[in-house]
Amino acid sequence: MTIVDSHVHLMPAALARAIRRFFEEHIGDMLVYPADITEVLDRHHADGVSAVWNLPYAHKPGMADRLNEGMAEVAASTADHPVDVVTGCTAHVGDDAPGDTVRRAHETSGARVVKLHCSVGGYDADDAPLDPVYKAAGELGMPVVVHVGHDVTGHTHSHELDSISTAAQRHPGTTIIVAHCGHHGHRETLDLMNTHANLWADLTPVVYERPGLSADDFADFGDRLLLGTDAPNVGLTLASHLEWLTELNLADDTMAAVLGGNAEHLIPRT
Ligand SMILES: [Zn+2]
Repeated sequence: MTIVDSHVHLMPAALARAIRRFFEEHIGDMLVYPADITEVLDRHHADGVSAVWNLPYAHKPGMADRLNEGMAEVAASTADHPVDVVTGCTAHVGDDAPGDTVRRAHETSGARVVKLHCSVGGYDADDAPLDPVYKAAGELGMPVVVHVGHDVTGHTHSHELDSISTAAQRHPGTTIIVAHCGHHGHRETLDLMNTHANLWADLTPVVYERPGLSADDFADFGDRLLLGTDAPNVGLTLASHLEWLTELNLADDTMAAVLGGNAEHLIPRT
């Protein structure tokens, strides 16, 4: 079966060091992957992964363009690796024209997926200046992965999900992926997926907590759920996710979809 990790952060070196420091200060020393990009990809290759979606995020206005270029440089530097690195891009709500930031990244950096991180960036998923981001992404066929919550721990609270509902409603032609399935608000995230056909979710843990989906949830929403790890800044390995999914005894087609089929449907292999 094809395995795609649709949520990793293999960042340019200086930013990667800053993020690691943040995790060590706020979360503790629980991380199970090394910071080195090639080592992470080697581990994923050994676990059977064929591609990763590499997602950046910007904490202030004016930095997204340079960061998006850096993500393309990361992809270029790993071009020989058997694991395919799909370039992501980001924009900040305070950028001069956030929609144009995404269009530029698509054209010049080959970006195929957008990441918005509401706590790091200090904004909400439905802030009006982000409308051009969702619009551009929809027109370019780029899914938008959104970390909705503002908690420093990485958690999302149920009431915060209203913002993603509004964004999904406003942009029905854009595929919006709720990172971490909105954990702790994973139940409410699934409810919103009932309402909005363009809303998806990834199963990325919050450091070392998996969103607690049941086998029935996978039966209902398995065509819109994506495997993700948050590597390298996470306390659970991809291998442990595979064990978890195996123990749920999902139908073969659901398992294949969640492991990689859904991701390849959104971003076909080149
Ligand atoms: Zn993440």
